[in-house]
Amino acid sequence: MNYLTSQILTVSSNSELTINKNTIMLNQKLILLPLFVFFVTIVNGQKNEVATSSQAEVWKNEVMKTLNGKYKTAQEMVDMVFSFSELGFQETETSAYLTSILKKNGFAIENEIGGIPTAWMAKWGNGKPVIALGSDIDCIPKASQKPGIAYKEAIVEDAPGHGEGHNSGLPLMILAAIEVKKIMEREKIPGTLVIWPGVAEELVGTKAWYIRDGYFKNIDACIFAHVGSNMGVSWGDSGNNGLVSVEFKFQGNAAHAAGSPWRGKSALDAVELMDVAWNFKREHMKPTQRSHYVITDGGDQPNVVPSKAAVWYYLRERSYEDIKSMYDDAILYAKSVAQMTGTTMSYKLLGTAWPGHFNKPIAEAVYNNIKTVGLPVWDSSDQQLARAVQKLVNAPKKNPRGQPIDGMPMTLDSLDGPSQILTGASDDIADIAWNVPTVVFRYPSNIPGLAGHDWSSAIAMATPIAHKGVVAGSKVVAATLMDMLTNPKIISDAWAYYTNVQTKDVKYIPFVDSTTHPATYLNKKVMDEFRPQLKNYYYDPSKYKTYLEQLGIQYPQLEKKGL
Ligand SMILES: [Zn+2]
Repeated sequence: MNYLTSQILTVSSNSELTINKNTIMLNQKLILLPLFVFFVTIVNGQKNEVATSSQAEVWKNEVMKTLNGKYKTAQEMVDMVFSFSELGFQETETSAYLTSILKKNGFAIENEIGGIPTAWMAKWGNGKPVIALGSDIDCIPKASQKPGIAYKEAIVEDAPGHGEGHNSGLPLMILAAIEVKKIMEREKIPGTLVIWPGVAEELVGTKAWYIRDGYFKNIDACIFAHVGSNMGVSWGDSGNNGLVSVEFKFQGNAAHAAGSPWRGKSALDAVELMDVAWNFKREHMKPTQRSHYVITDGGDQPNVVPSKAAVWYYLRERSYEDIKSMYDDAILYAKSVAQMTGTTMSYKLLGTAWPGHFNKPIAEAVYNNIKTVGLPVWDSSDQQLARAVQKLVNAPKKNPRGQPIDGMPMTLDSLDGPSQILTGASDDIADIAWNVPTVVFRYPSNIPGLAGHDWSSAIAMATPIAHKGVVAGSKVVAATLMDMLTNPKIISDAWAYYTNVQTKDVKYIPFVDSTTHPATYLNKKVMDEFRPQLKNYYYDPSKYKTYLEQLGIQYPQLEKKGL
């Protein structure tokens, strides 16, 4: 106490700069307390806020230090989810595994939210603010790939794999939330943490449904994490398109394709005419649109006139009105080709996303902590693997920002405002962001310059590159949570931006209505086919330190053994 009193006197009679530098170096904890009291004493009107922010710094430093020691936990969670390799709507092992960790750590789990078997919400805490922490969990078809090697080799040939890195985001959030919760409990800090998965993000299949069913009604702010190759965050228009994902099904009459073709009504003819019509339409569409399709049912065999056929479209544009206009046109074309071919038509919305717009005050709070945490220290093994993979896939020499691509990044991304780059892509986190102030925080767990959605993008995702990125990212999220829990101004500013800027002229109109069911049957057949084989490769942390060790991979393995 004497020590504190003398420091307070020194400080308040002059300025904080008079504090002996050696004292600060010797005992950071002791000097922070006098500073805290000093500010409370002399700064009128801002008493609580300043006092809390000073205290918050102590807690932030504590939680970031603790997370530095959680590398093993991060590695285990990231590797485990990587090994499950589950496609959208079929993330049963992933969800069971992640919720069991949260349950063990005192979170209450609500399973099957919105009637989606693999969706859930985990809650802990009391009162305001209520902060949601989310990330996607699904993987990519045919992207099975061994990690840590600089050549193409599947774990299970043609099986799904984490070629988008969605195995890393929720482990990051869980790491951060568990450590922040410990401090909240000890210090009796009010607030509620809500952890949730982006189920079937690759199908943009759930987040608009979460909104429709009210799961984000009482949320004050949302931090979403998405894997990247640098650490960054942005606010305003993300440059993304929104989309509808819609399947058109045609029903005709079967007939012997050689013996009595005149008695058949081909559903496949309808599909092909629809695609031809759409491809002619492209000439008259805005350059911002993206539209693509796959024929999900093209009939059974050539000698039977196909009585059933189906085509699945993603229709993307930059605004609700333009997406709606494409959607209406596609329905009109489908009706028209049904008439032309004498078939009948039905359609179903399988997924949807709005164009992205993210929150400025939260992005600024996140970016402050990004600067504090900085990029992970990449070692020569990480750099060797990154450069070898970049060579393997013929990566571009520069990224869209014009920065060179050469191994793992050594300088942090800047805090970005509204995007000048139109990505063409979509993400249904936008639907959350149009209802609750939200940011997407990118953390550096993948190699720069890859094509995305492919096997090469899975290579880093169960290696030290991914593990280091997740630990660094968890520190940023934990520090931002401490900021939000102790400084109510961040959330009130976030809502002011949401109300006065983001939604001033644009109002969210959902594409889903009360009758649109989530397409939870998607990917079931594929997972039923591959799950038994993938099970042989699930990570077993009781036997192996890492998944690389389990697979017998010497990190980094730059060339195929035996060649
Ligand atoms: Zn993604």
